[in-house]
Amino acid sequence: MIRIKRNIVLASRVRYRIGGRARYFFEPQNPDDIEEAVYWAISRNVPFLFLGAGTNVLFPETGFDGLVMQYAATEIREVPGSIRFSAGTPMARAVDYFTERGMQGLAWAGGLPGTVGGAVFGNAGCFGGEIKDSVLEVESISFDRATGRIERRVRSATDCRFGYRESVFKQPDGEIVTAVLIRATPGNPAAVRIEVAGHIEHRRRFHPLDYPSAGSTFKNIPLASVSEEVRGDFAEVVKVDPFPIIPVAAVLDRLGLKGTRIGGAEISAKHPNFFINRGKATFTDISGLISLAKTMAWQRYRVVLEEEIRIVDGATLAIGGENLDKRRFVPGIS
Ligand SMILES: Cc1cc2nc3c(=O)[nH]c(=O)nc-3n(C[C@H](O)[C@H](O)[C@H](O)COP(=O)(O)OP(=O)(O)OC[C@H]3O[C@@H](n4cnc5c(N)ncnc54)[C@H](O)[C@@H]3O)c2cc1C
Repeated sequence: MIRIKRNIVLASRVRYRIGGRARYFFEPQNPDDIEEAVYWAISRNVPFLFLGAGTNVLFPETGFDGLVMQYAATEIREVPGSIRFSAGTPMARAVDYFTERGMQGLAWAGGLPGTVGGAVFGNAGCFGGEIKDSVLEVESISFDRATGRIERRVRSATDCRFGYRESVFKQPDGEIVTAVLIRATPGNPAAVRIEVAGHIEHRRRFHPLDYPSAGSTFKNIPLASVSEEVRGDFAEVVKVDPFPIIPVAAVLDRLGLKGTRIGGAEISAKHPNFFINRGKATFTDISGLISLAKTMAWQRYRVVLEEEIRIVDGATLAIGGENLDKRRFVPGIS
C-alpha cells in the first residue's frame, strides 16, 4: 500500500529552490511503488510527473495540481561487464563507484548533478561525453493514460533513441526510467581519478555553483542551423561537443546580458547560460530573463534559443520547456 502525502513544498525538492506545493507527493522505493502510483493517478484522472533530483526543473509558485513522484531507489549492483544503477542513484555516487574501482565509462560525468535516471531522460552530457555513450540497457515503465495499461520494458541503447539532450523517454508518450545498465571496462585508476577531478574543478572555476540554478538554461546552437553571417561572427568560439555548436553562453555574452537581473534572478556573470536564483527569485523572474534572452537572440542573430531546462507550467499542468511560447505542449510525463 503506497502512502501519498499532500501539499508538499516543491522548492525544497528542486535545486532552483523555487516552486509552490504539489497537491500530492510520493517517493517510490521501487518499480512496484511506481506502478501502483501511476495506476492511482490514472484511475483518478490526476496529472502526474516524475522527478529525479530536481536539478533541471523550474516549478511555478502555484505548484503542481497533481502527483509529483521523486524516485528514492539508489541500489547499485554489479552485472558482468557492467553496473546496474537504480534510476534514483545520484550521478555523483555512480561516478564515485566507477572511480573507486578504476573503471572507465563515466569519467566525463565528473561533477554532473542529478540522478542516473534524469541523465538518461535528457541524455545529459558534458566535456565531450554523453550518457548515451555509457548506457547498455534501460529498464522503464510505460503507461497509457487512455487504457490504464502499465508495462515494464527493457530497452537497448539503440532503442532509447538518444539525441542531443533527447531520448525516447522525453517524447510525448514518455516512460519512467527505473534502472540503467552502464558499461564498465577496466581502466587506469589514476587516469580516471585525474579526469574526474579535472571536470569537478572546471565546474568550480567556471560555473556559478554558489547559487541555485538548473544548469544550462538553453541548449547550445547547432552550427548548421545559423546563417553564414552568424557563423562568421562566432567562428572563433565554435566547439565540437557533441557536434559543431555555437555555445549559447557566447551569444548571451555578446548580447551584453551577463549580470542582467529581474527581481531575484540573474543571468550569471560567471557563466551566462546559467540563470541563477540570488535568493528570492520567482518563476516569473526566471521566465522573464528567458523571454528577454530569446527575444534578443532572435532580434540580433535570428537564432531561436531552445530551453534545456524543464519548465512546469502550473496553469496548464504541463511539463515542457521546449519553448516558453509553446508551453501548451503536454508531453507524456505530465
Ligand atoms: C549546476 C548544474 C550543472 C549542470 N550541468 C549539466 C551538464 O554539464 N550537462 C547536462 O546535461 N546537464 C547539466 N545540468 C542539468 C541536470 O543536472 C541534468 O539534466 C540532470 O541529468 C538532471 O537529472 P535530475 O535527476 O536532477 O532530473 P530532474 O531535474 O529531476 O528532472 C529533469 C527531467 O527528467 C525527468 N526525469 C527525471 N528522472 C526521471 C526518470 N527516472 N524517468 C523519467 N523521467 C525522469 C523529469 O520528469 C524532468 O522532465 C546541470 C544542472 C546544474 C544545477
